[in-house]
Amino acid sequence: MSKVPIAVAYGDGIGPEIMSACLHVLQEAGAQIEPHVIEIGEKVYLQGHSAGITPEALEMIRQTRVFYKAPITTPQGGGFKSLNVTTRKLFNLFANVRPVVSYHPFIETKYPGMDVVIVRENEEDLYAGIEHRQTPEVYQILKLITRPGTERIIRYAFEYARAYNRKKVTCMTKDNIMKLTDGLFHKIFDEIGAEYPEIEKEHWIIDIGTAKLADTPEQFDVVVTLNLYGDILSDMVAQIAGSVGLAGSANIGPSVAMFEAIHGSAPRRAGQNLANPSGLLHAGILMLVHIGQPDVAERVHNAWLRTIEEGYHTYDIYREGVSREKVGTKEFAQAIVRRLGQYPEKLPPVYYVKEGKAPSKIQIPPYVRPPRPQKELVGVDIFVDWTPGTPAELAERIQRALPAHLKLHMITNRGTIVWPTGAAETFLTDHWRTRVVSASGQPLTHADILSALQAYLQAGLDFIKTEHLCRFDGVDAFSKGQGE
Ligand code: NAD
Repeated sequence: MSKVPIAVAYGDGIGPEIMSACLHVLQEAGAQIEPHVIEIGEKVYLQGHSAGITPEALEMIRQTRVFYKAPITTPQGGGFKSLNVTTRKLFNLFANVRPVVSYHPFIETKYPGMDVVIVRENEEDLYAGIEHRQTPEVYQILKLITRPGTERIIRYAFEYARAYNRKKVTCMTKDNIMKLTDGLFHKIFDEIGAEYPEIEKEHWIIDIGTAKLADTPEQFDVVVTLNLYGDILSDMVAQIAGSVGLAGSANIGPSVAMFEAIHGSAPRRAGQNLANPSGLLHAGILMLVHIGQPDVAERVHNAWLRTIEEGYHTYDIYREGVSREKVGTKEFAQAIVRRLGQYPEKLPPVYYVKEGKAPSKIQIPPYVRPPRPQKELVGVDIFVDWTPGTPAELAERIQRALPAHLKLHMITNRGTIVWPTGAAETFLTDHWRTRVVSASGQPLTHADILSALQAYLQAGLDFIKTEHLCRFDGVDAFSKGQGE
């Protein structure tokens, strides 16, 4: 078998120690890999590369299409961009996959029997980073959820479940509140889920779903969710399994994939041969399966399980009375190497090759854009920066200024209706949404919106943004005012 070239970064802090330990184990296990070392992290940031990576290193990742990455230190202070976010966006790494398992009774956990995989959407949601301060009092971020992005991650979760013989996929959203954005995610989960009849499906609202996951994680199998919820859930789940030092994650894109531990560079532990390399080793196991060497992945994983159950533990998981020996990073790796070819006797062994076959490679079909829906413009929300007076005063100014064919439909403040109805108790900021529609009920044109803005200008109103109100195929595609 020819060796598979991979880009390898040793990172910062404990990174170099745990990467050396992991490469040693993988190579001793027979991994056919050809590491190409690239520089990333603190040093590169301080040389003036704002994302902590050089163009040459990015080119190496592009060529090898596999990136095995140790944690890095992001320097304090402004101007530095997240290397992970840059890599994710640049290489379209849309799926973050994080398997988390508890190893009771060898690693302390309140949750024996936990074996969960979090599949987190990695590119969209609030992470588009589109933020604005709109008024002296009000700041905004845009949450973007797309059909192609959602279809891809949901399908990935179901394909993952199928490839790895998982029985259930749970979707978590907050669609009782965010009916359009989270609602789309839930709807696509139901649509695509129907194509996987053998897999059990369920949906939880994220708040109670998180509570259930924290309480009875053994009832969950694969969980698919949006970017921000997934970010929080995946750390929570790793922590309750025993230690953030244990889990690895894969960031998967259509051509490139990146594998890393979930923890950071733990600078206080650096250079002392103390750190636990298990998280990065698990990332390495995910990488071996990805590059088609599941037999090697299986050898490494089972030798690691055997090492854990025999009680060779780094300081973070060491417990008097349970562990046999407190070992350093290097000695831990050596203990695993000595057990290559062995299977655990108490913990369940792991099989990546079943009936002579590796898990099938997950292929996501390219997005097929459906025919364009019919789009009708039925109104516009014009947001205004206005120092609190009464809503009725604002309404009167707008009504006086608007041309006869346009009418003010409502005003909200922080989403709550304050005109024509409303409650005296509603707190008022300087940020108002004023909804303008046509007086006759007819659709609007872009020219109508310009004339509405012209009217606001003449009335001396500081409009700060507009949002078009559309109907797609006859269905309203905007939210109502709270209390409307
Ligand atoms: P951290 O994950 O580095 O450390 C948190 C705690 O966990 C510390 O007590 C640490 O000693 C312990 N710990 C972490 N990994 C361990 C391991 N393998 N073995 C034993 N103990 C371990 O988080 P932090 O201290 O908040 O961040 C340190 C630096 O890491 C920061 O510069 C941060 O930006 C960076 N970071 C990088 C990544 C990444 O590269 N993917 C992720 C998170 C944080």
